[in-house]
Formats: sequence, C-alpha cells, structure tokens
Amino acid sequence: MATDLEIVRVAALSDNYVWLIHDPVSDETVVVDPSEAAPVIAAVAQRGWTISQIWNTHWHFDHTDGNAEIKAMGAKVSGPAAEAERIPTLDTGLREGDSVRIGKHVASVIETPGHTAGHIVFHMAEDALLFSGDTLFAMGCGRLTEGSPAEMFGNMQRLAALPDETIVYCAHEYTVSNGRYAVIAEPDNRAVADRLHVVEAQRAAGEATVPTTIGTERATNPFLRATSVEQFADRRAAKDAFRG
Ligand code: ZN
Ligand code: FE
Repeated sequence: MATDLEIVRVAALSDNYVWLIHDPVSDETVVVDPSEAAPVIAAVAQRGWTISQIWNTHWHFDHTDGNAEIKAMGAKVSGPAAEAERIPTLDTGLREGDSVRIGKHVASVIETPGHTAGHIVFHMAEDALLFSGDTLFAMGCGRLTEGSPAEMFGNMQRLAALPDETIVYCAHEYTVSNGRYAVIAEPDNRAVADRLHVVEAQRAAGEATVPTTIGTERATNPFLRATSVEQFADRRAAKDAFRG
C-alpha cells in the first residue's frame, strides 16, 4: 500500500540529507535528523508547513545541530534514550520497540548499535518507509565509531529482513563512493556494476541517489549482503581503508 505521507529531501551541510515527513490529514510535519536549521525552515516555510516533531537517529552533530532552533519554534524532540546525555535538546527517549506517531501513522523504533552505541532507526511498517540515519546507506553502511562488527552485522540482518518494497531514507549522499568499493567487494555481481553506472550518471547530472529500497540494497549492498560476521568485518575494514 503506497503511503499518503509526503516526504521531502532537504540537502544540508556538504553531503547530508534531512527528511521532512508531512501528513496531509493531520497537517503534522516531522523532521528527521536536522543537521542544520536554516534549509529545513526554508523548506517548510515554502510549503506553509509547521514542524511539530524532530526525530533523531543518533547524537552526531551532523544529525542534531538544527534541533535547538527548530525546537524553539515549538517542535518536540524524540531520539535514542541511550544518547540522552549527548542530545541535550531531547524531550522523549526511545528504546527498541517504542513507537512515535505522525497523525495516525506509526514509526517503530529499532535499535541499531554500531555507528554510535545508541543509534536507532525509524520503521513505518504500514507505510513501508525506513529512516535509517547512518546505519544503512545506499550501497553502504555506517562506520563503526562506537560498536562492533557483530553488532552492525546483526543490524544488517534485521534490516535485510524488511519487505523489499520498503523505501530507505538514509542521511548521507555517499552512494558513488560506496559503489566504487562495492564493485571491488563483489566483482562478479552484475547488479552492483550496473547500479554504479547509474549513480555515477545521477551525480554527474547533479541528482540525488537516494532514497533507495530494501530490495535494491539486498541486490547491491555488500554490507547488507554479507553472509557472516567475518565477511562483514572484512568488508567494513576494507571500505574504511578504501580511497576511491
Ligand atoms: Zn553519524
Ligand atoms: Fe552522519
């Protein structure tokens, strides 16, 4: 079932994407991971919307720096309970299995430790949407700054089990770099090579390469496709060292 939520991509900083979720029924608007306030405020003003909530996936500044200014305009902030000390603007701490709502639409919280220890993602099962922050990227995954390969491999397994049609909204435009590593990780995977050509052309034309879908990632993401913790760990280490 296609969602009636309106999703808007706002480019911020050098390579961040901030996502607006607008529910035309309740007229509510949520902003996911506002790295900075100005472009977000401009995007909602242009549409005549008012932000009622901020949803944060993790504490990093390129996901939370816009919180204070948007909160001052009346928005409530929800994010990982485990990172409350590092997100001083937080109103509601969320844990695995908790949910947040926009109008009648429900987002379930999945804890995905690894990139940060408390990282969460927001899964809207009925709408088939996933806001994956810095856990799952198009053709990639987040660096392990506060977690283990085993944790992140577990996250990949969980997210890979979501329905193929789930639309994935990640927080960075890293796809070309990820794709250049992906063709090395999986040299015989035709889908990976084909997709790299597509995303390189998109970037050359100044277009965004996200959102993506779980089905596309299951076919072309070497981290989501890893079949063991060992293989995942090898790929993560290789990508960290990769300069493509
Ligand atoms: Zn981050
Ligand atoms: Fe980030």
